[in-house]
Amino acid sequence: MTLQTDINSAAAELKGKTPQEVLTWCLGNYSKIALASSFGAEDVVLIDMMAKIRSDAHVFTLDTGRLNAETYEVIAKVQQKYPQLQLQIMFPQAEAVEQMVSEKGINLFYDSVENRKQCCYIRKVEPLSRATKGLDAWITGLRRDQTANRSTMETVELDGDRNIAKINPLIDWSNEQVWEYIRANDVPYNALHDQNFPSIGCAPCTRAIQPGEDLRAGRWWWEMSNQECGLHVTSDGRLVRAKG
Ligand code: SF4
Repeated sequence: MTLQTDINSAAAELKGKTPQEVLTWCLGNYSKIALASSFGAEDVVLIDMMAKIRSDAHVFTLDTGRLNAETYEVIAKVQQKYPQLQLQIMFPQAEAVEQMVSEKGINLFYDSVENRKQCCYIRKVEPLSRATKGLDAWITGLRRDQTANRSTMETVELDGDRNIAKINPLIDWSNEQVWEYIRANDVPYNALHDQNFPSIGCAPCTRAIQPGEDLRAGRWWWEMSNQECGLHVTSDGRLVRAKG
């Protein structure tokens, strides 16, 4: 059976299921599976759901070295609330970061799209490749209504770049459902969400948004055309707009 056939069969099995049912099925059927978490609102919901299904579930995060203090605070709160969680914190290769910032400056990403892509590649894409290596499936907190780019995404799909399954349990959830879950279950969340940051990435590349702005308008705002998350890029560092 091919991976695509397996994924088609998983997609049929999980059609119409709740996020908890999707997670329960996936944690039972994929032996090497992990949640990619940047500790945004959707990610902490998934962490809480996963920890209730399996307390030692595997979660990884990318510490780019440029995160906000509030992000480290929520990571610490999650570690405290779910002590058995296997939280893997991935760092970029030190030598690559040292070379990049000594050649191009600490805030090189503001100077050109090429520089920003280089920074995202070194701080996110390469560590993400190491984190997903050897997995059968990875889980994301993507939701379909976040941007038009994500409208065609499904609960279970093939990640063609990594040749593994990609699971999006919250794909059909609204922002309101996410926050209802956080409040009802007393889930720790990033304090920046209370300051109009719907999407939180690296500190120098993320800002609060104004009422009526697109949810992702706070990312890389100085580039009007590239606002897809650095996590959802191809293995050679290109940003993917069609799918997350
Ligand atoms: S989001 Fe900004 S600081 Fe973070 S890796 Fe990308 S360019 Fe670098």
